Amino acid sequence: MDMAGDTREDVVIVGGGISGLATALALHRKGIRSLVLEKSKSLQATGGIVVHSNGWHALEQLGVAPYLRQTADPILSKEEMRCVRRTDLVNILAQNLPLNTVRYGSNVLSIELDPVTSYPVLQLQNGTSLNAKVVIGCDGVNSNITNLIGVKAPSRLNVMAVRSITIYPDGHKFGSEFKMIKKGDVTVGVIPMTTNQVYWFITGKYFSQEGFKISKSSKLIMNFSTESVKDFPSSIKEMVNNCWLEYLHFSEYIKYRSPWNILCTHFRVGTVTVAGDALHAMTPFIAQGGSAALEDAVVLARCLARKAVVDGPGEIGSKLMVEKAFDEYLKERKTRLLRLTIESTLLGKMEETSSKLIKLLYIVLMVVLFRNSFAHARYDCGKL
Ligand SMILES: Cc1cc2nc3c(=O)[nH]c(=O)nc-3n(C[C@H](O)[C@H](O)[C@H](O)COP(=O)(O)OP(=O)(O)OC[C@H]3O[C@@H](n4cnc5c(N)ncnc54)[C@H](O)[C@@H]3O)c2cc1C
Repeated sequence: MDMAGDTREDVVIVGGGISGLATALALHRKGIRSLVLEKSKSLQATGGIVVHSNGWHALEQLGVAPYLRQTADPILSKEEMRCVRRTDLVNILAQNLPLNTVRYGSNVLSIELDPVTSYPVLQLQNGTSLNAKVVIGCDGVNSNITNLIGVKAPSRLNVMAVRSITIYPDGHKFGSEFKMIKKGDVTVGVIPMTTNQVYWFITGKYFSQEGFKISKSSKLIMNFSTESVKDFPSSIKEMVNNCWLEYLHFSEYIKYRSPWNILCTHFRVGTVTVAGDALHAMTPFIAQGGSAALEDAVVLARCLARKAVVDGPGEIGSKLMVEKAFDEYLKERKTRLLRLTIESTLLGKMEETSSKLIKLLYIVLMVVLFRNSFAHARYDCGKL
């Protein structure tokens, strides 16, 4: 701490979600210390998350795959696919970090580059400021850091999403397949996690002004969900009615970055960059946002360790070295993200449109571009 009451850190990660924690763990595995600033008072995670084989490759590199595999059964698929509880994922990432890596209740309000040193300075809600050599914004889809470094906010689809988990003490009857059922404008996804736990989501067109209010109350989300599935088979209605209320999560709009936006934006200013949803918010229709965030973590830590570490273990080198490391990270990620965002955007647009002709056009594009609908999961982000 210096005379003005400000603190200094080498590497600061803003946001302690999947992306922030995975990035901190990847850096830790490479011997680089970081500080994660999380605005909530504790780790936040609701529901389940499908992790495709590309995500499992990244989890292997982070050293937490064997533990997580024990918590979730394989889903029938050509590639490894399992649906884990988000709490299990964030907890195991956090537990593998050195003590005091995550500082809860730390809301980052602004960031600017010091006019003399050009290194970032963060202003926190508690009135303190923090000087850092490196800042990685992992603050999600509504990222403050992207705004502050001049990156356009993501676009939004008029498509809502609800998700939760239902427990079946005597076992469920959904087997081990990922099932999608569509009725009119509503799609329900059912993903078995274990023999007695099922993760599910509901998506559909949504134009109401009530969304924000709904998202704040489990009771309102429940009413909305039961109404949405009223024409579905009884097994689906029961699954929704008996779900775990505290895991109910409602997204009023789905936000996404277009492939064009990913390609044309420079997601770095000085030694500040972004990862996870802050970099590549995408629609959930290929269930890849989380796995892509895990890949980001491995690639970012690899690039930083290779290009920007000097002398002692984990010592961050010059500004230029960090900038080069981040440019290498972004170049590698953009190539990968282009495919993921084209596919997830097309599927999102298909869900949103009411025009049969436009829907047909999207279907043709999907068939031409992505004949193998699981090819996106066949990717290995490489060694940490
Ligand atoms: C309905 C739905 C279903 C999905 N299903 C899947 C799936 O099956 N598989 C998959 O891979 N992906 C899925 N996704 C996408 C996945 O949830 C996201 O990609 C992933 O959670 C992104 O993690 P993140 O850490 O980047 O962002 P977040 O999880 O949003 O974390 C951001 C963190 O930053 C903190 N924060 C924000 N602002 C500040 C600040 N100013 N200061 C300090 N802290 C801050 C927040 O409190 C939060 O903890 C789904 C998304 C939706 C909407």
